[in-house]
Amino acid sequence: MRAWSVVRPGPLEEAPLRFVEKPVPGPADDELLVRVTACGVCRTDLHVAEGDLPVHRPGVTPGHEVIGVVARAAPGFAEGDRVGVAWLRRTDGTCAYCLRGAENLCPASRYTGWDADGGYAEYTTVPAAFAHGLPPGLADVAAAPLLCAGIIGYRALRRAALPPGGRLGLYGFGGSAHLCAQVALAEGATVHVLTRGAAARRLALALGAASAQDAYAMPPEPLDSAILFAPAGELVPVALRALARGGTLAIAGIHLSDIPSLRYESELFHEKQVRSVTSNTREDAREFLALAARHGVRATTHTYPLERADEALRDLKAGRFEGAAVLVNDPEQ
Ligand SMILES: [Zn+2]
Ligand SMILES: [Zn+2]
Repeated sequence: MRAWSVVRPGPLEEAPLRFVEKPVPGPADDELLVRVTACGVCRTDLHVAEGDLPVHRPGVTPGHEVIGVVARAAPGFAEGDRVGVAWLRRTDGTCAYCLRGAENLCPASRYTGWDADGGYAEYTTVPAAFAHGLPPGLADVAAAPLLCAGIIGYRALRRAALPPGGRLGLYGFGGSAHLCAQVALAEGATVHVLTRGAAARRLALALGAASAQDAYAMPPEPLDSAILFAPAGELVPVALRALARGGTLAIAGIHLSDIPSLRYESELFHEKQVRSVTSNTREDAREFLALAARHGVRATTHTYPLERADEALRDLKAGRFEGAAVLVNDPEQ
């Protein structure tokens, strides 16, 4: 099969990814073999390719927003079923975190497209217990970004502890934020978007945001909660200053540049809180996919054929599209 492989992690300009021939993977007994039809392009793939994240599997195939069709079944799924493959791939199920429902913190967890080959390929595998059934009526391309961008945005929204009808600030407005905004708006929030891209600001307003300004601007009213989606630590104090008393900032990314020193009085006092967001649980995924179906949450997508994944990553890095990029496999080719 054809697949992308991270041969030498480093800047995209130095071509860390190669499009190669690989054998179709052989699934373990508890795993599905999945024929990939669409795979979203997540910022984490960029971090894997560029070496911001340590190498877990040399030559890994990235991609963890996979939609496909079961080509070899395992318990819980039949051949021909449409499934989603997300970032969280395995946990031990036995540690204190797993037992208390925080499997996203499992120290033994494994991730698709980092520890194991993912969806920038014609086929991939997934443990059946971590595959997601998909709501009907959602096209493959539109569904792909829900599987990481959507689920993480949803977990970040819950971590941001937004009160009912509250004022939410979103710093950065890419794949994850534009899905998170739709859930927040459907639940009655007022959403303010703070991001550098003019096209992203237009998309934010079109989706129903009350305001859209540059990332360093002060929002028009104090925020009850904020979520930092941009991987920019220098925005942490900016977002904290925008919070009302008792407000919460959730940092959604897996990678963040260094945070400058904080001023206690203006940025933390009055019980402001900073929280990180680490991966997601399968329960988050189930809750979000159900909400997305109920509220008609839709990704704004920009498609590329599989063989142009490197271009999709370059465009993501340069901020050349709104919403989310999705790689599409054409079985006729
Ligand atoms: Zn565990
Ligand atoms: Zn992701």
